[in-house]
Amino acid sequence: MRAVDRLLLATNNPGKVREFRRLLADVPFEIVTPAALGIDIDVVEDGASYAENAAKKARAFAAAAGCLAIADDSGIEVDGLGGRPGMLSARYGGAGLDDAGRVSLLLTELDGIPGSKRTARYRAVIAIARPDGQVHLFEGAMEGCIGHARRGAGGFGYDPVFVVAGGRTAAELADAEKDLVSHRGKAARLAAAYLRGLVS
Ligand code: IMP
Repeated sequence: MRAVDRLLLATNNPGKVREFRRLLADVPFEIVTPAALGIDIDVVEDGASYAENAAKKARAFAAAAGCLAIADDSGIEVDGLGGRPGMLSARYGGAGLDDAGRVSLLLTELDGIPGSKRTARYRAVIAIARPDGQVHLFEGAMEGCIGHARRGAGGFGYDPVFVVAGGRTAAELADAEKDLVSHRGKAARLAAAYLRGLVS
């Protein structure tokens, strides 16, 4: 019987680690984190697209660990802000802000902006890299709009103000509900099918 290969999650973001572990629960790989392997690298996300950043992160971690690595790059694009914060979502407002501060800034920037311009989407690109640098990419998007106040205690990031079809925020969805419709869920299902194909 073949030993189970490792799949390294190329992220230190606890919210993403939780989501990836759920989304990849049925892939025939042992899911490991950088911390578990003693890997501490910081990849500068200076690519021109989500795909470039995801590929860069996955390649760096796969090379460091000598096993497959999976990374994503994601962001939220708000139509009334010309698609901002987009690729800069994690750094929106500068390094001094946390998730709650970024949500406050978004609500402030959208103050007085009507519902028709509050449409938004999350986008995710997942990259799976081999230690030799070969990369496969998988994409997903989730449409919604930015509400006027926070609601819900689940999820992370912009979820408390990201209103999805049906009127609840992403932070009011149960984990399994979010996974079914989320950008990362959609991309991860494509990635999981690819991973299963590697060992079948
Ligand atoms: P990155 O992919 O690590 O560059 O970070 C993307 C940023 O977009 C996160 O830090 C969040 O602020 C935001 N984001 C991406 N996906 C989600 C999500 O599912 N919920 C809430 N915020 C998200």
